[in-house]
Amino acid sequence: VYRSRSSFKLLSLSKTHPSILNPSTTRSVVDLGAAPGGWCQVASNLLKKGRGKVWAVDILGMEPIPGVEFIKGDFLSEEVRDSLKARVQESQLGQQRVEDGAGEVGFRGIDTVLSDMMAPMTGIRIRDIGISLQLCTAATIFARDVLRKAKGGEEVRKEGGKKVYPGGNLVMKFFAHPDLDEFRKLELDPWFGKVVVEKPKESRSESSEAYWVCLGFKGDPDDLR
Ligand code: SAM
Repeated sequence: VYRSRSSFKLLSLSKTHPSILNPSTTRSVVDLGAAPGGWCQVASNLLKKGRGKVWAVDILGMEPIPGVEFIKGDFLSEEVRDSLKARVQESQLGQQRVEDGAGEVGFRGIDTVLSDMMAPMTGIRIRDIGISLQLCTAATIFARDVLRKAKGGEEVRKEGGKKVYPGGNLVMKFFAHPDLDEFRKLELDPWFGKVVVEKPKESRSESSEAYWVCLGFKGDPDDLR
């Protein structure tokens, strides 16, 4: 039993884009704005067979979910973001030390960052747009910092008829508006192999929300030139 209607949106997104939550390749997922925990349930269920782990953050509290490490706090606070990053890195370093023996120890990077964050709508459009931009900016800066980068020479693969872009992924809710389109063009498109807008049918058609599915993190476009 899922804790939220949102769960079906993530299920539908991951059906369309299987690399977001792939039991055989996804090992680490960060879920921003996670309460009451529907997306965490979907992610941890899909990754159960693999060795995936989920880290989740929300201002609100959340009942525990097996395989999910939860941090209660405001993601707009630097302290909360730093603590999340530290925990994720620590856990990955520990894991790699064991796997690699004396080999190289490094931060592999997060496979998928999810953000369903949104503050309650005020109905004052300019304010709702502003909040969405603020949350998307924070999630994007964080994702750029922690996502696994495609390695040079890694090619787009085909799996079950679908393209799999090398590098980590970001799935993020946004408020549909030209300012947000501009954000996508400048801040997302150049950093990822592919960015698509999805409006899952489970999302109410009258609401202005939609999701960006950003596949195949490439890193800083300035470094690639
Ligand atoms: N994906 C969740 C699920 O399936 O259960 C539902 C998420 S709900 C639509 C949006 C969440 O974003 C709320 O729980 C809210 O508290 C959270 N949120 C909004 N602003 C936030 C912030 N600045 N930091 C952390 N969480 C935030």
